[in-house]
Amino acid sequence: MTGASPGGALAVDGGTPVRAAPYATGRGLLLWGEEEEAAAVDVIRSRRLFRYGAEGPSRCDELEAALGRRVGSPHVLCTSSGTAALTAALVGLGMPAGAEVIVPAVTFVACANAVVCARGIPVTVEVDDTLMLDPGAVEQAITDRTFAIMVVHLGNVAADLDPLVELARRHGLVLLEDAAQSLGVSHRGRPVGSVGDAGVTSFQTEKNVTVGEGGAVFCRDAEVFGRAARFHDQGGQFTTNRGGDRGAGSEPTTGSNLRMTEIAAAMGLVQLQRLDDLIERLRAAGSAIVAQADPSLVWRRIPDPAGAAGDPTLFCADRMAARRVVGALVAEGVPAHTMYGGQVLSNMPALRAGRTPWGQEWTPPPRCRVSEQLLGRSVTIGLSPTMTDRDVADVGEALAKVGAAGLLGGGDR
Ligand SMILES: *Cc1c(COP(=O)(O)O)cnc(C)c1O
Repeated sequence: MTGASPGGALAVDGGTPVRAAPYATGRGLLLWGEEEEAAAVDVIRSRRLFRYGAEGPSRCDELEAALGRRVGSPHVLCTSSGTAALTAALVGLGMPAGAEVIVPAVTFVACANAVVCARGIPVTVEVDDTLMLDPGAVEQAITDRTFAIMVVHLGNVAADLDPLVELARRHGLVLLEDAAQSLGVSHRGRPVGSVGDAGVTSFQTEKNVTVGEGGAVFCRDAEVFGRAARFHDQGGQFTTNRGGDRGAGSEPTTGSNLRMTEIAAAMGLVQLQRLDDLIERLRAAGSAIVAQADPSLVWRRIPDPAGAAGDPTLFCADRMAARRVVGALVAEGVPAHTMYGGQVLSNMPALRAGRTPWGQEWTPPPRCRVSEQLLGRSVTIGLSPTMTDRDVADVGEALAKVGAAGLLGGGDR
């Protein structure tokens, strides 16, 4: 680690950084404009803040229709969050209490939390070198109690759906797609969220389309939609002192309030129009970074590169090496991280202990050692839709510097 390497000594060792400060990372929020603000103000001035009870289509109705067209899904339900969407989807799909749902070991904790809130048991399963569900491991995890496979399209990359669709069909299971991090991405030409029996997305502030907090359920079947929609609106037993017949036509159940606000939906309609541009920009930046990098680097496998727009993620020799590479890249001014701090879902304290707010519901799950290892030695370079060619070139320079210092060798899948 001397001045002999291109660009001189690493910033982490006291050399001059490639950049003085990192570029901004984010998704839809970075494309936010006056149009979102105007749409919110319109709703506020109209005093129609709530989707039900007024004449004519609500903003929520309009967002549902627009999402249905974009994703190719016949039924869409807006919700208050992505977690709420997962819960409503599982209820809509008819999950019996106590059933098992297969979730990937590498994902956001919402996946497991939603299963528990829908009265199911999350079963964490190994990922492969895509950092998404390993179909072989899924098959081994199927039991008499398995109800659904929840596949997560991680970070704007579609999981390989073909083997999972086949597995679900062969075992009579439901396939639920979590596209919270991947709205607008496709798998072999089909938008994610529309391939499984149901799908969800999120409009939380870090996601592709954001309204701060929000989500949506996509489903093909009218009955699944009806159950999810009733559950999200007090189980279809909605009565007020002003009457009302929401959820009529079916037997009510108990439910919850997982509804979206009209302000959120109005902003979502504007943000959704920016989605194609966002995906294009992320895809261009990501491909340029990989194309200019040392060809011996080992990147996360992408099942369908043409449909993806993911943050470039490379594998280092081990967890220690990954930690050093993250430190070195950040010191150079490049936003790099290991997803979820390198922590797999099955090792999160409450998940290990089976600790729910209602008591202990399961015994510690088996360790997902393959996933621990793959995630732990991965390094993700954060992208942004506002990245310039200069930013992309800086990432290349930083990677070359860190590579020349010998920190990037020895990774495999
Ligand atoms: C963000 C996210 C969720 C939850 O969405 P919220 O809107 O934050 O509730 C679910 N699954 C994944 C994979 C996510 O990244």
